[in-house]
Amino acid sequence: MSVEIVRIPVLDDNYVWLLHEPESGETVAIDPAVAGPVLAEAERRGWTIGQIWNTHWHGDHIGGNDAIKAATGARVSAPAAEAGKIPSLDVPLREGDSVRIGAVEGMVMEVPAHTAGHIAIHLPSEQAVFVGDTLFAMGCGRLFEGTPAQMYANMDRLAALPDATRVYCAHEYTQSNGRYALVAEPDNGAIRVRMEQVDAARARGEATVPTTVGLERETNPFMRAGSVEELARRRAAKDVFRG
Ligand code: ZN
Ligand code: FE
Repeated sequence: MSVEIVRIPVLDDNYVWLLHEPESGETVAIDPAVAGPVLAEAERRGWTIGQIWNTHWHGDHIGGNDAIKAATGARVSAPAAEAGKIPSLDVPLREGDSVRIGAVEGMVMEVPAHTAGHIAIHLPSEQAVFVGDTLFAMGCGRLFEGTPAQMYANMDRLAALPDATRVYCAHEYTQSNGRYALVAEPDNGAIRVRMEQVDAARARGEATVPTTVGLERETNPFMRAGSVEELARRRAAKDVFRG
């Protein structure tokens, strides 16, 4: 692995991911909700942000684009399908396109459902995938602009990545997702074990992201749904769940 990945917690529960490839010196900010803390972290490390990658158009993922661009001249790569909603977009991304940080390549996967143009970016050489608000630790994104069938297909594609792939989600939602997961799959011992670790980590103020594809395959009730109908039922139940 050659890309350094830094977690920047911002707003209530967002994570901005800062990537740095030392050979080229290139730095990428993924889903900068805000600019200030992201520019500060880069500066503290002596890095200059040359690119922004956005997974979807929601404000808590693109809110820092303009100010980071103004400060650094960074180029913004974002879903082509959401170009109208991401005015700062420079490089439109579609299924199968690649992005680069230095010599490291990221593959664009279209994963519509949370938003109609949502993308994920998979860096095979780093065993890392950046999933925005599509896949969360023990959860998945709300279906604002898509269908259960689309989310089911997204879960299938992400589950097919190697188990060791680290999954970088854009929010710290693990504890509330896990409370629902315990209800959705009461007989799943792996969820109980994980939740004990998650509760302890959160009590210490620690992050629980990234997760891994393998861990999600064992404990994520949305990735584990056996049919579109089951995913739809679980998503609807989670929408109103108060754990
Ligand atoms: Zn979102
Ligand atoms: Fe979000």
